[in-house]
Amino acid sequence: MDNAFTALVLEQRADTVSAAFQNLQREALPEADVLVRVAYSSLNYKDGLAITGRNKVVRRYPMVPGIDFAGTVEQSQSSSYQPGDRVLLTGWGVGERHWGGHAQFARVESAWLVPVPASLSLEEAMGIGTAGFTAMLCLMALEAHGLAPGEREVIVTGAAGGVGSLAVALLAQRGYQVVAETGRTDAHEYLRGLGAHKLLDRAALAEPGGPLGTARWAGAVDTVGGAMLAGVLRTLAYGGSVAACGNAGGMDVHTTILPFILRAANLLGIDSLPVPLEQRRQAWDRLARDVPRDALKRIVRVAPLRDLPALAEEIVGGRIRGRVVIDVNA
Ligand code: NDP
Repeated sequence: MDNAFTALVLEQRADTVSAAFQNLQREALPEADVLVRVAYSSLNYKDGLAITGRNKVVRRYPMVPGIDFAGTVEQSQSSSYQPGDRVLLTGWGVGERHWGGHAQFARVESAWLVPVPASLSLEEAMGIGTAGFTAMLCLMALEAHGLAPGEREVIVTGAAGGVGSLAVALLAQRGYQVVAETGRTDAHEYLRGLGAHKLLDRAALAEPGGPLGTARWAGAVDTVGGAMLAGVLRTLAYGGSVAACGNAGGMDVHTTILPFILRAANLLGIDSLPVPLEQRRQAWDRLARDVPRDALKRIVRVAPLRDLPALAEEIVGGRIRGRVVIDVNA
Protein backbone atom coordinates (compact mmCIF):
# COMPACT_ATOMS: atom_id res chain seq x y z
CA MET A 1 0.00 0.00 0.00
CA ASP A 2 1.33 3.40 -1.11
CA ASN A 3 0.06 5.14 1.91
CA ALA A 4 1.70 2.93 4.48
CA PHE A 5 4.66 4.04 6.55
CA THR A 6 6.59 2.91 9.60
CA ALA A 7 6.47 4.63 12.96
CA LEU A 8 7.56 3.91 16.49
CA VAL A 9 4.35 3.97 18.53
CA LEU A 10 4.16 4.33 22.32
CA GLU A 11 1.14 2.88 24.09
CA GLN A 12 0.20 2.82 27.74
CA ARG A 13 -1.54 -0.02 29.52
CA ALA A 14 -2.08 0.42 33.25
CA ASP A 15 1.25 1.91 34.39
CA THR A 16 3.37 0.36 31.66
CA VAL A 17 4.49 2.11 28.48
CA SER A 18 5.31 -0.09 25.49
CA ALA A 19 7.20 0.96 22.36
CA ALA A 20 6.66 -0.97 19.11
CA PHE A 21 7.13 -0.35 15.40
CA GLN A 22 3.85 -0.23 13.48
CA ASN A 23 2.83 0.11 9.84
CA LEU A 24 0.39 2.99 9.71
CA GLN A 25 -1.67 4.66 7.01
CA ARG A 26 -1.21 8.40 6.46
CA GLU A 27 -4.87 8.87 7.43
CA ALA A 28 -3.89 7.86 10.97
CA LEU A 29 -1.75 11.00 11.34
CA PRO A 30 -3.16 13.88 13.41
CA GLU A 31 -4.93 16.80 11.73
CA ALA A 32 -2.66 19.70 10.72
CA ASP A 33 -1.91 21.70 7.58
CA VAL A 34 1.45 20.28 6.39
CA LEU A 35 2.41 16.66 5.68
CA VAL A 36 6.19 16.13 5.89
CA ARG A 37 8.14 13.20 4.46
CA VAL A 38 10.63 12.79 7.30
CA ALA A 39 14.24 12.12 6.35
CA TYR A 40 15.96 12.33 9.75
CA SER A 41 14.95 12.69 13.35
CA SER A 42 17.23 12.49 16.37
CA LEU A 43 17.59 11.15 19.88
CA ASN A 44 17.22 13.65 22.69
CA TYR A 45 17.18 13.09 26.45
CA LYS A 46 13.43 13.77 26.42
CA ASP A 47 12.90 11.13 23.71
CA GLY A 48 14.73 8.67 25.95
CA LEU A 49 12.38 9.46 28.83
CA ALA A 50 9.32 9.16 26.54
CA ILE A 51 10.31 5.85 24.95
CA THR A 52 11.32 4.21 28.24
CA GLY A 53 8.19 5.60 29.94
CA ARG A 54 10.33 6.90 32.82
CA ASN A 55 8.79 10.31 33.11
CA LYS A 56 5.56 12.14 32.29
CA VAL A 57 6.93 13.51 29.02
CA VAL A 58 4.11 12.05 26.91
CA ARG A 59 0.76 13.68 27.57
CA ARG A 60 -1.46 11.34 25.55
CA TYR A 61 -1.28 7.86 24.04
CA PRO A 62 -0.87 6.37 21.51
CA MET A 63 2.08 8.67 20.73
CA VAL A 64 4.76 8.74 18.07
CA PRO A 65 7.86 10.11 19.89
CA GLY A 66 10.56 12.26 18.31
CA ILE A 67 10.75 15.90 19.44
CA ASP A 68 12.50 17.01 16.26
CA PHE A 69 12.78 16.09 12.59
CA ALA A 70 13.88 17.34 9.17
CA GLY A 71 12.39 16.40 5.82
CA THR A 72 10.56 17.64 2.75
CA VAL A 73 7.02 18.90 2.43
CA GLU A 74 4.78 16.29 0.79
CA GLN A 75 1.43 18.12 0.94
CA SER A 76 0.61 21.61 2.18
CA GLN A 77 -2.57 23.54 2.87
CA SER A 78 -0.47 26.51 3.95
CA SER A 79 0.66 29.30 1.61
CA SER A 80 3.97 29.37 3.53
CA TYR A 81 5.14 25.96 2.26
CA GLN A 82 5.05 24.12 -1.07
CA PRO A 83 5.65 20.43 -1.80
CA GLY A 84 9.40 19.80 -2.00
CA ASP A 85 10.38 22.53 0.51
CA ARG A 86 13.03 21.44 3.01
CA VAL A 87 11.77 21.98 6.55
CA LEU A 88 12.73 21.22 10.12
CA LEU A 89 10.86 21.19 13.38
CA THR A 90 11.94 21.32 17.01
CA GLY A 91 9.73 21.68 20.08
CA TRP A 92 6.09 22.83 20.24
CA GLY A 93 5.18 19.67 22.18
CA VAL A 94 5.76 17.46 19.14
CA GLY A 95 6.59 13.94 20.34
CA GLU A 96 4.86 14.80 23.64
CA ARG A 97 1.33 16.03 22.80
CA HIS A 98 1.37 15.76 18.99
CA TRP A 99 2.84 12.85 16.98
CA GLY A 100 6.51 13.39 16.31
CA GLY A 101 9.48 12.52 14.13
CA HIS A 102 10.25 8.88 14.89
CA ALA A 103 8.27 7.96 11.79
CA GLN A 104 8.56 8.23 8.02
CA PHE A 105 5.78 10.84 7.86
CA ALA A 106 4.55 13.57 10.19
CA ARG A 107 1.59 15.93 9.86
CA VAL A 108 2.19 19.19 11.73
CA GLU A 109 1.18 22.85 11.84
CA SER A 110 2.98 25.09 9.35
CA ALA A 111 3.54 27.62 12.15
CA TRP A 112 5.84 25.12 13.89
CA LEU A 113 8.13 24.60 10.88
CA VAL A 114 11.33 26.42 9.95
CA PRO A 115 12.86 26.32 6.45
CA VAL A 116 16.19 24.44 6.54
CA PRO A 117 18.97 26.98 5.86
CA ALA A 118 20.42 26.42 2.37
CA SER A 119 23.91 25.59 3.64
CA LEU A 120 22.70 22.69 5.82
CA SER A 121 21.85 19.19 4.63
CA LEU A 122 18.84 17.53 6.25
CA GLU A 123 21.24 15.20 8.08
CA GLU A 124 23.27 18.15 9.39
CA ALA A 125 20.06 19.93 10.43
CA MET A 126 19.19 16.99 12.67
CA GLY A 127 22.79 16.58 13.81
CA ILE A 128 22.26 20.04 15.29
CA GLY A 129 18.56 19.44 16.11
CA THR A 130 16.94 20.41 19.40
CA ALA A 131 20.30 20.13 21.17
CA GLY A 132 22.09 22.64 18.94
CA PHE A 133 19.09 24.95 18.84
CA THR A 134 19.02 24.95 22.65
CA ALA A 135 22.78 25.53 22.84
CA MET A 136 22.36 28.52 20.50
CA LEU A 137 19.48 29.91 22.61
CA CYS A 138 21.80 29.66 25.62
CA LEU A 139 24.59 31.50 23.79
CA MET A 140 22.18 34.20 22.57
CA ALA A 141 20.81 34.69 26.11
CA LEU A 142 24.33 34.91 27.59
CA GLU A 143 25.44 37.42 24.96
CA ALA A 144 22.26 39.47 25.49
CA HIS A 145 23.38 39.69 29.14
CA GLY A 146 26.80 41.02 28.22
CA LEU A 147 28.94 37.91 27.70
CA ALA A 148 31.77 38.44 25.21
CA PRO A 149 34.97 36.52 24.53
CA GLY A 150 37.65 37.53 27.00
CA GLU A 151 40.07 36.23 29.58
CA ARG A 152 37.51 34.74 31.89
CA GLU A 153 36.37 31.21 31.24
CA VAL A 154 32.91 29.94 30.28
CA ILE A 155 31.83 26.56 31.63
CA VAL A 156 29.60 23.99 29.94
CA THR A 157 28.18 21.26 32.22
CA GLY A 158 27.21 17.83 30.93
CA ALA A 159 29.64 18.69 28.15
CA ALA A 160 29.76 15.27 26.47
CA GLY A 161 25.96 15.17 26.03
CA GLY A 162 24.08 16.51 23.01
CA VAL A 163 23.40 20.08 24.18
CA GLY A 164 26.78 20.16 25.93
CA SER A 165 28.79 19.08 22.86
CA LEU A 166 27.13 21.66 20.61
CA ALA A 167 27.57 24.36 23.28
CA VAL A 168 31.30 23.60 23.58
CA ALA A 169 31.77 23.72 19.79
CA LEU A 170 29.77 26.95 19.36
CA LEU A 171 31.45 28.79 22.24
CA ALA A 172 34.93 27.71 21.15
CA GLN A 173 34.20 28.80 17.57
CA ARG A 174 33.21 32.26 18.91
CA GLY A 175 36.54 32.57 20.70
CA TYR A 176 35.51 31.80 24.29
CA GLN A 177 37.82 29.98 26.73
CA VAL A 178 35.63 26.92 27.28
CA VAL A 179 35.89 24.66 30.32
CA ALA A 180 34.03 21.39 29.72
CA GLU A 181 32.61 19.63 32.80
CA THR A 182 32.08 15.92 32.31
CA GLY A 183 31.70 12.73 34.34
CA ARG A 184 33.50 10.73 31.62
CA THR A 185 37.28 10.64 31.56
CA ASP A 186 37.07 8.80 28.23
CA ALA A 187 35.46 11.92 26.70
CA HIS A 188 38.37 14.28 27.40
CA GLU A 189 40.02 13.90 24.01
CA TYR A 190 36.65 14.22 22.27
CA LEU A 191 35.90 17.47 24.14
CA ARG A 192 39.34 18.92 23.40
CA GLY A 193 38.66 18.11 19.76
CA LEU A 194 35.49 20.24 19.95
CA GLY A 195 37.53 23.17 21.25
CA ALA A 196 37.46 22.83 25.07
CA HIS A 197 40.62 24.37 26.51
CA LYS A 198 40.22 22.73 29.96
CA LEU A 199 38.33 19.77 31.41
CA LEU A 200 36.68 19.67 34.82
CA ASP A 201 35.60 16.53 36.64
CA ARG A 202 31.92 16.16 37.63
CA ALA A 203 32.70 15.89 41.34
CA ALA A 204 34.56 19.21 41.41
CA LEU A 205 31.40 21.31 40.98
CA ALA A 206 28.61 19.06 42.21
CA GLU A 207 30.07 18.58 45.71
CA PRO A 208 28.41 20.65 48.41
CA GLY A 209 30.39 23.69 49.53
CA GLY A 210 29.91 27.05 51.24
CA PRO A 211 27.55 29.66 49.76
CA LEU A 212 30.34 31.13 47.62
CA GLY A 213 33.39 29.52 46.03
CA THR A 214 36.26 30.99 44.04
CA ALA A 215 34.80 33.39 41.44
CA ARG A 216 35.71 31.82 38.11
CA TRP A 217 33.16 31.79 35.28
CA ALA A 218 32.15 34.72 33.09
CA GLY A 219 29.27 32.57 31.91
CA ALA A 220 27.89 29.06 31.96
CA VAL A 221 25.68 26.72 29.96
CA ASP A 222 24.17 24.27 32.43
CA THR A 223 22.52 21.14 31.02
CA VAL A 224 22.65 19.21 34.32
CA GLY A 225 20.71 21.21 36.94
CA GLY A 226 20.49 20.03 40.57
CA ALA A 227 23.73 20.17 42.59
CA MET A 228 25.67 21.09 39.44
CA LEU A 229 23.68 24.28 38.91
CA ALA A 230 24.16 25.15 42.57
CA GLY A 231 27.92 24.61 42.11
CA VAL A 232 28.00 26.83 39.02
CA LEU A 233 26.14 29.63 40.84
CA ARG A 234 28.62 29.50 43.77
CA THR A 235 31.55 29.95 41.40
CA LEU A 236 30.26 32.53 38.87
CA ALA A 237 32.45 35.61 38.58
CA TYR A 238 30.97 39.03 39.37
CA GLY A 239 28.11 39.86 36.98
CA GLY A 240 28.32 36.42 35.36
CA SER A 241 25.34 34.60 33.87
CA VAL A 242 24.28 30.99 33.70
CA ALA A 243 21.90 29.79 30.99
CA ALA A 244 20.06 26.92 32.70
CA CYS A 245 18.47 24.54 30.22
CA GLY A 246 18.63 21.00 31.63
CA ASN A 247 17.93 18.68 34.50
CA ALA A 248 19.83 15.52 33.51
CA GLY A 249 21.41 15.52 36.99
CA GLY A 250 18.41 16.51 39.10
CA MET A 251 15.52 18.88 39.67
CA ASP A 252 16.18 20.34 43.13
CA VAL A 253 18.60 23.24 43.34
CA HIS A 254 19.84 24.15 46.81
CA THR A 255 21.49 27.53 46.69
CA THR A 256 21.57 30.77 48.62
CA ILE A 257 20.91 34.40 47.81
CA LEU A 258 24.61 35.30 48.06
CA PRO A 259 25.65 34.72 44.40
CA PHE A 260 22.85 37.11 43.44
CA ILE A 261 23.41 39.90 45.96
CA LEU A 262 27.20 39.72 46.38
CA ARG A 263 28.21 38.78 42.83
CA ALA A 264 25.29 40.11 40.77
CA ALA A 265 24.74 36.66 39.23
CA ASN A 266 22.15 36.21 36.48
CA LEU A 267 20.16 32.98 36.25
CA LEU A 268 18.70 32.77 32.73
CA GLY A 269 16.05 30.12 32.07
CA ILE A 270 15.98 28.57 28.60
CA ASP A 271 12.94 26.86 27.06
CA SER A 272 13.38 25.82 23.44
CA LEU A 273 9.78 24.66 22.89
CA PRO A 274 7.65 27.78 22.28
CA VAL A 275 10.25 30.11 20.72
CA PRO A 276 8.63 32.59 18.25
CA LEU A 277 9.32 32.00 14.55
CA GLU A 278 11.50 35.10 14.02
CA GLN A 279 13.85 34.14 16.86
CA ARG A 280 13.90 30.53 15.59
CA ARG A 281 14.98 31.66 12.13
CA GLN A 282 17.69 33.88 13.62
CA ALA A 283 19.00 31.01 15.74
CA TRP A 284 19.00 28.61 12.77
CA ASP A 285 20.75 31.16 10.53
CA ARG A 286 23.46 31.51 13.16
CA LEU A 287 23.69 27.73 13.59
CA ALA A 288 24.07 27.25 9.83
CA ARG A 289 26.87 29.83 9.81
CA ASP A 290 28.64 29.11 13.11
CA VAL A 291 28.52 25.35 13.80
CA PRO A 292 31.95 24.12 12.71
CA ARG A 293 31.31 21.24 10.29
CA ASP A 294 34.37 19.27 11.43
CA ALA A 295 33.09 19.44 15.03
CA LEU A 296 29.62 18.37 13.88
CA LYS A 297 31.12 15.30 12.23
CA ARG A 298 32.83 14.39 15.52
CA ILE A 299 29.62 14.93 17.51
CA VAL A 300 27.15 13.02 15.32
CA ARG A 301 26.58 9.38 14.49
CA VAL A 302 23.66 8.08 12.42
CA ALA A 303 21.51 5.12 13.50
CA PRO A 304 18.48 3.42 11.94
CA LEU A 305 14.94 3.76 13.32
CA ARG A 306 14.99 0.18 14.63
CA ASP A 307 17.77 1.04 17.12
CA LEU A 308 15.63 3.60 18.96
CA PRO A 309 14.37 1.44 21.87
CA ALA A 310 17.94 0.41 22.80
CA LEU A 311 19.29 3.95 22.26
CA ALA A 312 16.55 5.35 24.53
CA GLU A 313 17.82 3.20 27.40
CA GLU A 314 21.35 4.38 26.72
CA ILE A 315 20.57 8.10 26.75
CA VAL A 316 18.61 7.96 30.02
CA GLY A 317 21.52 5.98 31.46
CA GLY A 318 23.91 8.83 30.48
CA ARG A 319 25.84 6.58 28.08
CA ILE A 320 25.34 8.45 24.78
CA ARG A 321 28.16 10.73 23.72
CA GLY A 322 27.30 13.66 21.48
CA ARG A 323 24.30 13.31 19.19
CA VAL A 324 22.55 10.41 17.49
CA VAL A 325 20.73 11.23 14.24
CA ILE A 326 17.96 8.78 13.38
CA ASP A 327 17.64 7.82 9.71
CA VAL A 328 13.94 6.94 9.63
CA ASN A 329 14.26 5.27 6.21
CA ALA A 330 17.19 2.99 7.06
P1 NDP B 1 22.26 14.05 26.98
O1 NDP B 1 21.85 12.84 27.71
O2 NDP B 1 22.85 13.94 25.62
O3 NDP B 1 23.32 14.88 27.88
C1 NDP B 1 23.16 15.02 29.26
C2 NDP B 1 24.55 15.03 29.91
O4 NDP B 1 24.38 15.40 31.28
C3 NDP B 1 25.22 13.68 29.97
O5 NDP B 1 25.91 13.37 28.80
C4 NDP B 1 26.16 13.87 31.15
O6 NDP B 1 27.30 14.61 30.72
C5 NDP B 1 25.38 14.77 32.07
N1 NDP B 1 24.71 14.01 33.15
C6 NDP B 1 23.78 13.04 33.01
N2 NDP B 1 23.42 12.57 34.21
C7 NDP B 1 24.13 13.28 35.12
C8 NDP B 1 24.22 13.26 36.54
N3 NDP B 1 23.48 12.42 37.26
N4 NDP B 1 25.04 14.13 37.14
C9 NDP B 1 25.81 14.98 36.42
N5 NDP B 1 25.78 15.03 35.07
C10 NDP B 1 24.95 14.19 34.44
O7 NDP B 1 20.98 14.99 26.95
P2 NDP B 1 20.68 16.30 26.05
O8 NDP B 1 21.95 16.97 25.74
O9 NDP B 1 19.72 15.93 25.00
O10 NDP B 1 19.88 17.17 27.11
C11 NDP B 1 20.55 17.69 28.25
C12 NDP B 1 19.53 18.29 29.21
O11 NDP B 1 18.96 19.44 28.62
C13 NDP B 1 18.37 17.35 29.55
O12 NDP B 1 17.99 17.55 30.89
C14 NDP B 1 17.28 17.82 28.62
O13 NDP B 1 16.00 17.50 29.09
C15 NDP B 1 17.55 19.31 28.60
N6 NDP B 1 17.07 19.99 27.42
C16 NDP B 1 16.33 21.12 27.63
C17 NDP B 1 15.88 21.86 26.59
C18 NDP B 1 15.16 23.12 26.87
O14 NDP B 1 14.46 23.63 25.99
N7 NDP B 1 15.29 23.69 28.07
C19 NDP B 1 16.08 21.41 25.20
C20 NDP B 1 16.95 20.24 25.06
C21 NDP B 1 17.39 19.56 26.17
P3 NDP B 1 28.77 13.97 30.71
O15 NDP B 1 28.64 12.71 29.93
O16 NDP B 1 29.63 14.98 30.07
O17 NDP B 1 29.10 13.74 32.17
